[in-house]
Amino acid sequence: MNDLIYKAETTHALNIDELTALLDASEYDEALFAAADRVRKKYVGDAVHLRGLIEFSNICRCFCMYCGLRCENKNAERYRLTEDEIVETARKAAEAGYRTIVLQSGEDAWFSAERMSSVIRRVKAFDVAVTLSVGERPFEDYKAFKDAGADRYLLRIETSDKALYESVHPHMSFENRVRCLKDLKTLGYEVGTGCLVGLPHQTSRHLAKDILFFKEIEADMIGIGPYIPHPQTPLRNEKGGDLIQAVKVMALTRLLLPTINIPATTAMETLAPNGQAKALQSGANVIMPNVTDPSVRKKYEIYPGKTPANPAEDARKETIGKILSLGRTIGTGFGGRIKAHSG
Ligand code: SF4
Repeated sequence: MNDLIYKAETTHALNIDELTALLDASEYDEALFAAADRVRKKYVGDAVHLRGLIEFSNICRCFCMYCGLRCENKNAERYRLTEDEIVETARKAAEAGYRTIVLQSGEDAWFSAERMSSVIRRVKAFDVAVTLSVGERPFEDYKAFKDAGADRYLLRIETSDKALYESVHPHMSFENRVRCLKDLKTLGYEVGTGCLVGLPHQTSRHLAKDILFFKEIEADMIGIGPYIPHPQTPLRNEKGGDLIQAVKVMALTRLLLPTINIPATTAMETLAPNGQAKALQSGANVIMPNVTDPSVRKKYEIYPGKTPANPAEDARKETIGKILSLGRTIGTGFGGRIKAHSG
């Protein structure tokens, strides 16, 4: 296993059998995390980029079996911020120092290409990078968002195995998901994707395939989330994912894609109080503090226990303290993907 870790660190290439073997072994985890940390430092440095996350609508037309916002969850209290509220939240975040604003929602058709483009144009006026995470759309919508100034787009594949994908995404097609990612690449976005770790019937081979999928589509950002069952979903009785396995997938992703941006995800922190710190020491270089108004933040419950409803300024201070205590620095600038010296 140590030879495989060395190979990953020096060549950034492993095949599916090698990745699966590392995911199945447990006694080499610390060596794997340390290698991912070295690769992170060598290629993207010590800076941790902060992205201000605005969850502007929890209305969603989808049925994702694992998500508390699925349309069939009648207990979810739905909300949709107005355009002015979104822009005002972004303005405050930019003033607080965020250089990237992430606009995230369920698949809410009210935000037509025209409405969304208007929001993007107004947020871009604050001299920030804009990342969108608003789901599957036709090529024309993605083009309109890009023309309005959007820089990046997050759309997790969740799993790259078609059968597994379709088992947890009723009424959705794997092919359309991949089509969206390819359209976004074609349009020149920095594209973020990622997977859930711990889905029912998911194996380590599935996860190995996910990592190779990230490489194949040349993702610029990868978010890995341990799956946390939500009580108001059909998968409520499932076991869910494990923090260490999720961090292993993330560390292997860093080894194979050394120059990309990788967030220490909120789901990792939800599973363990030091989850994000562990991620930052195992390959991650991004954190996305939530800047949504605390009055609605609790309602964006994809999984239970997601985010503390503390004010945005406190979340930012806490996050910065955590980063500095690890001997890391705070990123300046937009923090886009480093294009040079990959390989
Ligand atoms: S995961 Fe996203 S698309 Fe699926 S139900 Fe939840 S909010 Fe909607």
